[in-house]
Amino acid sequence: MEYRIHPKTGDKIGVVGIGAGPVGAALTPAQCIQYALDKPGVLTVLPGLRSVEGVKQALSYFTASPEARDYAAIASLTPKDAAGACVYCNHCQPCPAGLNVGLINKYYDLAAIGDTLAAEHYAKLSKTAADCTGCGHCGRRCPFHVAQPQRMKEIAAYFGK
Ligand code: SF4
Ligand code: SF4
Repeated sequence: MEYRIHPKTGDKIGVVGIGAGPVGAALTPAQCIQYALDKPGVLTVLPGLRSVEGVKQALSYFTASPEARDYAAIASLTPKDAAGACVYCNHCQPCPAGLNVGLINKYYDLAAIGDTLAAEHYAKLSKTAADCTGCGHCGRRCPFHVAQPQRMKEIAAYFGK
């Protein structure tokens, strides 16, 4: 991540770029936008557009089905030492207990680095990590080999719910 200064407000803005590297090359535009939006703290995605066709491809995000936005294909690119880390893709959904697995993990990771807003959002969830039954469905579906039942216990202990 790098930082830029907003020209009018002077605010420091974090900028994450996805170029034509392995991730960008492996994903469709809709998958790429979803991947970027799922990263912690990302509020805006700005596609690099060079043609009308590029605009159409970027706009396809809005009509793409959840399956078409699913970027789990990049699991094969995940470095071995990064396997086991949740990337919030929700490929493991649906959870039989109704948990939003990706969102719960994202709020936890953000709260753990001091994001109080994420902790507030977590507190408002109707289903939290404490509702996990440990059924293991998500673990079997996760392309990134996250031991989610254990992680849910860790998250429930952290938030106390
Ligand atoms: S547990 Fe795996 S499949 Fe589920 S959101 Fe996290 S990375 Fe994606
Ligand atoms: S292990 Fe927990 S989070 Fe995963 S699918 Fe089962 S109930 Fe849902």
